[in-house]
Amino acid sequence: MSTIGNNYLEVKKRVEQAAIKCGKNPEDVTLIAVSKTKGVDEIKQAVEAGAHILGENKVQEIQAKYDALPGVEWHLIGHLQTNKVKYIVDKVKMIHSLDSLKLAQEISKRCTAAGVTMDVLIEVNIGAEESKSGVKPEEAEALCLEASKLPGIHVKGLMTVAPIVENPQDARVYFRKMNKLFVDIKAKNYDNIDMVYLSMGMTHDFEVAIEEGANMVRVGTAIFGARNYTL
Ligand SMILES: *Cc1c(COP(=O)(O)O)cnc(C)c1O
Repeated sequence: MSTIGNNYLEVKKRVEQAAIKCGKNPEDVTLIAVSKTKGVDEIKQAVEAGAHILGENKVQEIQAKYDALPGVEWHLIGHLQTNKVKYIVDKVKMIHSLDSLKLAQEISKRCTAAGVTMDVLIEVNIGAEESKSGVKPEEAEALCLEASKLPGIHVKGLMTVAPIVENPQDARVYFRKMNKLFVDIKAKNYDNIDMVYLSMGMTHDFEVAIEEGANMVRVGTAIFGARNYTL
């Protein structure tokens, strides 16, 4: 087994153990292998070990790798510009980064034209950080509702990138806030909003995220190693 394959299995095991620890069925926590900046050969090693959902934060990277990796499910997890939506509606299963009505309208328009329905998560900037995309927590419900009324879009939950902290335990407070938002919106049973996925937790903090309610984690570095952005 390749190093990347072993890493994937190791992370998968940690995800399952974290799920079991808090009384969840390990199958109910979805692991997304974040393959941004990585080449097809590296990604194939993870796929051979069982990775079947890949996360990318750039449209161009999905376009570049798509044909070489048949049979996997792609999730767009990074900021999406409206002018790029048209390139991915037929390629991705889920967009985790819906953060404006304008983007929702463009996704709706393109998906309706293509005859598909896109699963989306509303991205929340839970730490209210200047540098991060995502809506403010108090705006999340309104965007869920607006998006839910558009054809071609299915609101499936919330996503966040928690603030970077030295000790992963310090991210717990943010994950807890996200879970509260998630549960509150879910309890309202709005039409065409299915609050099923809470996407949070990365290499540094995915176990804490699972303990606080995440059922989708996005892990890159722990599987593929450090990224080299200068390549
Ligand atoms: C890069 C990225 C990840 C994965 O980060 P790691 O720390 O490498 O696990 C998860 N989510 C988003 C949105 C990312 O851009």
